[in-house]
Amino acid sequence: PSAPADWADLIRDVPDFPKPGVVFKDITPLLASPAGFAAVVDELVARAPERIDVVVGMEARGFIFGAPVALRLGAAFVPIRKAGKLPAEVITASYDLEYGTETLAVHADAVRPGARVLIVDDVLATGGTVGATAELVRRLGAELVAVTVVLELDFLHGREKLAARGIDQLTALR
Ligand code: 5GP
Repeated sequence: PSAPADWADLIRDVPDFPKPGVVFKDITPLLASPAGFAAVVDELVARAPERIDVVVGMEARGFIFGAPVALRLGAAFVPIRKAGKLPAEVITASYDLEYGTETLAVHADAVRPGARVLIVDDVLATGGTVGATAELVRRLGAELVAVTVVLELDFLHGREKLAARGIDQLTALR
């Protein structure tokens, strides 16, 4: 099939996932379109600030978008993972989920102090993931220059919650 005019039309709504009442934004049809995937990466690169040293991407879909952006910018790629996955010394940050907590980890030596960092993820929902990631970046002594997400779910007000924590450099492509 030919690519649609807008790559965003390749993001599919899946009702009642992961639980009843939630409409999940499924990016896999976008990834399956070489033209669509290229277009969204182009847009992420075009929106990136100057002189980014490190692109940070979160497990798992932040890896998919963050890695090609890092290559295009000539920047390092640093993965943020769920706790217990990274092999060397880590620092961690936790945040509340509806039920329980999530803990994210990054290698303690992954980013040098003062590095200019861009965080990339697929979807901004409540902002918990970006908030914990920003905290890790700052604790490593790096400069958080920008956060770019492919899609923002406005009705969850993640942007406002992040702004209240001093994270106000957020761009959403859609
Ligand atoms: P938050 O922490 O902002 O509540 O949730 C954002 C994280 O959960 C992102 O890492 C994102 O990958 C994932 N996420 C939450 N809702 C969705 C969704 O509807 N679609 C996709 N693709 N990911 C989601």
